[in-house]
Amino acid sequence: MIGLISATAAGAAARDRLAAAWPDRTRVYDGPVGDAVRRAFGECEQLVCFLATGAVVRLIAPLLGGKASDPGVVCVDEGRRFAVSLVGGHGGGANELAVDVGELLGAEPVVTTATDAVGVPGLDTLGFPVEGDVAGVTRALLDGEPVVLEAEVAWPLPPLKVTNKGAEEGAGEGSYERGREGSYVIRLTDRAVEPPAEREVVLRPPSLVVGVGASRGAPVEEVLGLVEHALRDAGLSVRSVAELATVDAKAGEPGIVGAAGRLGVPVVTYTAEELAVVRVPNPSDAPLAAVGTPSVAEAAALVRGGELLVPKRKSERADGRPAMATCAVVRRPGRGRLAVVGLGPGARDLLTPRARAELRRASVLVGLDQYVDQIRDLLRPGTRILESGLGAEEERARTAVAEARRGQAVALIGSGDAGVYAMASPALAEASDDIDVVGVPGVTAALAAGAILGAPLGHDHVSISLSDLHTPWEVIERRVRAAAEADIVVTFYNPRSRGRDWQLPKALAILAEHREPTTPVGVVRNASRADESSRLTTLASLDPATVDMMTVVTVGNTATREIAGRMVTPRGYRWQEAAT
Ligand code: SAH
Repeated sequence: MIGLISATAAGAAARDRLAAAWPDRTRVYDGPVGDAVRRAFGECEQLVCFLATGAVVRLIAPLLGGKASDPGVVCVDEGRRFAVSLVGGHGGGANELAVDVGELLGAEPVVTTATDAVGVPGLDTLGFPVEGDVAGVTRALLDGEPVVLEAEVAWPLPPLKVTNKGAEEGAGEGSYERGREGSYVIRLTDRAVEPPAEREVVLRPPSLVVGVGASRGAPVEEVLGLVEHALRDAGLSVRSVAELATVDAKAGEPGIVGAAGRLGVPVVTYTAEELAVVRVPNPSDAPLAAVGTPSVAEAAALVRGGELLVPKRKSERADGRPAMATCAVVRRPGRGRLAVVGLGPGARDLLTPRARAELRRASVLVGLDQYVDQIRDLLRPGTRILESGLGAEEERARTAVAEARRGQAVALIGSGDAGVYAMASPALAEASDDIDVVGVPGVTAALAAGAILGAPLGHDHVSISLSDLHTPWEVIERRVRAAAEADIVVTFYNPRSRGRDWQLPKALAILAEHREPTTPVGVVRNASRADESSRLTTLASLDPATVDMMTVVTVGNTATREIAGRMVTPRGYRWQEAAT
């Protein structure tokens, strides 16, 4: 719950705005401000105070306990200019809250936590449990001191500005012992290692799946004890457990559900048929008779692949009665992550917030050099940039997929939408199901141009690329003809280059067989970029020499009109009659 406290009329108005926007997440604290802050501090996970920072500092100072337990506190000034993250920036979520509040109220979020300010992700914000000298290693990252990343499991991390060492680099024990001496270390491991008090943190990736089976009525303690013993004996950390896996029939078994609750992980279930086909080292008859698969624990742990670290073992009961639970532990393969990100047509404010987040999430960026330049300032320090020139599409696609397969977090970028005449298809044609793929849509050139021209795409429309480098001209011509006959608005991408000058006139001639010479045609060059230009002309008077590779050409249908200098394609005659 977010407690809201205000003192003045302006503060109350801003407060009410938040309360109305987030009715289920907020609670208004009325009454004298001091009391209100104290009550909210004790009762809420977060506070937004519409008060001066000085006043809030004095009020909460005696209440502060520690950054693990204090609520996140955000202050908003009287003029709604700033949303200041005051305390609990990471643990209390105040930094994020300041951004959200700022967005809602039109205030500038003010975040002073060092890692957020310089673009280094806080070690405690990576979404993994972290142990050890978080403060020391964070300071080293910020100060640019050497920090060694020892990744025992390949896992897609955001960039950390570190020297990579570990399994994937094939560094031998000896060399890496030498390499780490005296330096700061981030260790990514699911093994039960204790970090030393200084200079080292251990990040716990969610890499372990524990398969469990249980007879009806198995006590929580028995299941939990079994899992904990199995992990301990194998030298594995309970904090790297991602889930308990079992068969559908046991989805509601209280011992399993209770153990998962105590471990803070979900229970994932599979059908008996799915489990029956998994090859396991220790099948047996009992589960086959009871639930229809010769293995529950091992099969459920292995069904999604991975390495069996702990074969099936049974619980031990002090009273000597038969065991009621079984478990097996698997290390699942680290899955790399490929984000295919559309950057929009050029203008920074047409780059979506989601695209921006994915760029910062990536540790490897793959793209055409000119697109990389467009967003270089948004990348986190330490992001590995693999840029290449025009024409290297296939190679870029292969590189991006190969990096993701190595367990990296990769962003493959393209202008406009990365799926429109761009990198998404060659990349996904290469990719197998051993990586996660995330697509981020972007504003494609046809839409950016449409908004400049007016409303040319108000009815059915199509995009056609006139580049015959990879598509035979016959195919392109057939499509242009079909669009012409079907009276569809057409946007031409790749309309004309120095070596390709006859295709556009030819395509326009085909359209002219079915449309009046006066049909409006919009020509937009460098939409949303610094040297943007646009022209509205007609099929008869378009001069192809004004068109180049930075341009899109949108040809109206037979109903498209120029109205007050804008290109307008009606939604349809019937629709318009109904509206008038
Ligand atoms: N993925 C891109 C298209 C790549 S094909 C997108 O979704 O927009 C390249 C062609 O797109 C160029 O030849 C040009 O026709 C068009 N284009 C891309 N960006 C443009 C812009 N800002 N203004 C005008 N045309 C653009």
